[in-house]
Formats: sequence, structure tokens, C-alpha cells
Amino acid sequence: MPASTVLKALSSTIPPDQLVIKGTEESAKLNKSYLSLLQSELEPAAILLPRSKEDVVTIVKLLKPYVLSGDVQFAVRGAGQQPLPGCSNISGDGLTIDLWYLKGIEIKDGSVFIGAGEIWGSVYEKLAEHGLGVTGSRSALGGIGGLALADGLSFSSREGFICDNVLAYDIVLSTGTLITASPSSHPSLFRALRGGGNNFGIITRFELRTFPQGPSGALNKPDADPETHVMISQAYIDVFKEVGDHFCMNQAYYTREVCAYMNTTVAADAATLTAASDIFTAAFQPLKDLEGLTCAFTLQSYPRSLLSKCTNNSLGLDASTPLMSILLMNWWKNAADDERVIQTFKQVIEKIDADAEQRGTAVKYKYMNYAYSFQDPIRSYGEEEMGRLREVSGRFDAEGVFQKGVLGGFKLF
Ligand SMILES: Cc1cc2nc3c(=O)[nH]c(=O)nc-3n(C[C@H](O)[C@H](O)[C@H](O)COP(=O)(O)OP(=O)(O)OC[C@H]3O[C@@H](n4cnc5c(N)ncnc54)[C@H](O)[C@@H]3O)c2cc1C
Repeated sequence: MPASTVLKALSSTIPPDQLVIKGTEESAKLNKSYLSLLQSELEPAAILLPRSKEDVVTIVKLLKPYVLSGDVQFAVRGAGQQPLPGCSNISGDGLTIDLWYLKGIEIKDGSVFIGAGEIWGSVYEKLAEHGLGVTGSRSALGGIGGLALADGLSFSSREGFICDNVLAYDIVLSTGTLITASPSSHPSLFRALRGGGNNFGIITRFELRTFPQGPSGALNKPDADPETHVMISQAYIDVFKEVGDHFCMNQAYYTREVCAYMNTTVAADAATLTAASDIFTAAFQPLKDLEGLTCAFTLQSYPRSLLSKCTNNSLGLDASTPLMSILLMNWWKNAADDERVIQTFKQVIEKIDADAEQRGTAVKYKYMNYAYSFQDPIRSYGEEEMGRLREVSGRFDAEGVFQKGVLGGFKLF
């Protein structure tokens, strides 16, 4: 079935301002607004822009038969800040459901209700007026869904992962039914969503726990405590190559057009981390001829204080051992270099894992938001969690619409 048949069905059902066809100026503008070129270079046949939860229901109901007949696939986009190619965009005859217009931030009874099209910066601004905070991204531009459906690292370890602070998800299931998943309403789905990504439906609104928050000074404190979440990067940066070989820095975001993340986790062990740093440093030397290369090796701790809050989610983590996340963030200029960069840093991850294995410090867990396509974060949660997630998928999406229809991200089957 040609894409035009699906588009015809859409254009006769949804308002014209919610359907942006490929080839138009608006489509090009929206498509350019992803964090990474690896996502922007995919171009869907149309971008759908629902304005309300009811619009999402209409879209899902309309697309479902086409998905089941194999005639259409779609992507779900929050703010488009995850660089993994195809996780929130799609090419060819595919459609992208962009949730940008699902706005709304409401503070009530210790919770904040956040529309799926909001970004963390707007949430912080609104909460600050009330002296409140929430666990959210360290990027003001980041979307809610990408983080609240994975573990989600925030500013401090005190409050736990972002997903552990979600109190309820309003979700449109593959049947087009809108339900709320919380500890008291569909608890197994609620647990699955805390780490399960885009596998179960489209979240239209998130309810998160808030806490009192004074003006932020935590990050300037020299004495790290559970109020802080230290992130250390060492990086090689092409434009600074005359100054030195590589640097230790706070952060290296937003410097290049093509961007890819990959990650692993190890026990917090100094010898393992030193070896990992050496593996990274040796690996980027032969890449220094690449135009615009920035490659960063970033350590983020998962201390016991953070892991002890990690309950009732699908991540398969516990607080028995403090862990360290190793994130490789890479930017470069030319698409012709994609393969070389990806392969080099894929091997870095493999070598770090092999080295940690030998030392007895290897950890299977991979963080979904920082994973690349060769990785399998959902399987890294362990067989038991995987079994649970599949069972929940079978109950809430029996025909597998979000498995067959939404190919991007990390799938259950
Ligand atoms: C400058 C910067 C700072 C960052 N800081 C942090 C940080 O502090 N902590 C951290 O953990 N990560 C951080 N990241 C990583 C980043 O925020 C994540 O990759 C995150 O996924 C982005 O969320 P998004 O919704 O914008 O992503 P998108 O690319 O829009 O979506 C990511 C995935 O989530 C799915 N999804 C999104 N919304 C929904 C929804 N409503 N319903 C169903 N599925 C949905 C998409 O289908 C896709 O698979 C940072 C990234 C940048 C660039």
C-alpha cells in the first residue's frame, strides 16, 4: 500500500495543522531540530502534530490497522534530544508523531503534571516560582519522555533516578484507550514503563513527585554529598588540538552536527576506571585527522544513595555495589566518517567490558538513553525483567502495535 493511502486517511481525519507533509518548509524545519544529524537525516513521509491527548487517541486508532497490515511504521518524538538514529524519527513511508504541542505544567498536592511536549527547562522555571524542584535532565532543552521512560540521571543522587520519581503515566495504548498507570492503577504497566521506553504506548502526560528546592547552589559546592551528582569528562577536541592532547572538562555538548552516544557500566573500582580511560585515550589517537572531532569519556556515578531509591522499576539494579556509568559522547563533521567513529568507539566499549570482566568488575547494565544501536539496554536489565516486560506487553499491546509499528529505540521482541 503506498504511503499516499495512509496520508489520505490521515488528511481526511485530522486537522490540516496537525499533518506536515515531507517536502514542505515546515517539515524541513521540524526535521532539522533534532539534536543529532543522525536523526535529522532520516525524513518521514509526514510529521503528525497532535494538540491534545484526544488527538493522540485519534491518530493511534487510525494508524493501528495500517500497522497491523504492515503498511506503515511510525516514530514517537519527545524533544528529539536522544542522538540514537531512528529512536524518535523515521524515513521512507514512515510517520513521526511529534508530541511538541502537548503542553501544560500543573502543580498540585506535591506533584507536577507535565505534558509530553514540555522540556525540562520550562518545568524548572515553573517549579522555581513555588520553591520546588523535581528530578529532571541537566539539559533545559531535554524532553520528558526520553528520561522518564529510562533510568534518567538528574542533578543529585539524593532523589533517585528520574523514572523513580514518576508517580503516574497517562498513556494511550495501542487500542486507542487512554489510561493512567500508577502504583494503584495498572501497577504492572507502571513498573514496566519505569525503564521500558517506547514499548507500551504514547505517554501524553507525566506526574512527578516534587520536593522543596532553594536556589541552586549544589553544583558549586566543593564537598560532594548526596545533594550532588558529579559528572567528569575527559575529551579530545579537534579545534583545541594546538593547545593540548586532551582535556578534563565539565561538559562538551552541542559542538558538532553529527553526534552519537554509547555506554557501559562497571563497578566503581579505580583500577577498572583507569584502564578504561587508557583504552579510550589510545583509541582516539588515530582519529585525530577527522574534521571536527570531539570525543569525550564521561564518568557518572551510581552511588548507593541513588541505587537505594531504585525500586519498583524494570531496570534490574540494586544497591549492593556502587556503580559507575561510562559514557562515550562523540561529535564529528562529515557523514563519510560515521563508520570510522562508530566502529572505533564500539571497540572501546567492548575492550572496557572485556577488561572489567577479567577484573570481576563488569556490570551488564547499559543505560538506554546513552546506548547506541549495537547495544541492547533492555536485555541488560536481566532475564527476569525482560520476561516481565514481555508479559506486560502481551497484556497491554496484544497485537504488538508498538513492537511492529514503532521500530526505533530498543524493542522487547
Ligand atoms: C545537553 C544534554 C544534556 C543531557 N543531560 C542528561 C541528563 O542530565 N540526564 C540524562 O539521563 N540524560 C541526559 N541527556 C540525554 C537525553 O536527555 C536523552 O537522550 C533523552 O532521551 C532525551 O529525551 P527526549 O524526549 O528529548 O528524546 P527523544 O529523542 O524525543 O525520544 C527518546 C526516546 O523516548 C521515546 N519517547 C519520548 N517521549 C515519549 C512519549 N511521550 N511516549 C512514548 N515514548 C516517548 C522516543 O520514542 C524515543 O525512543 C542529555 C542530552 C543532552 C543533549
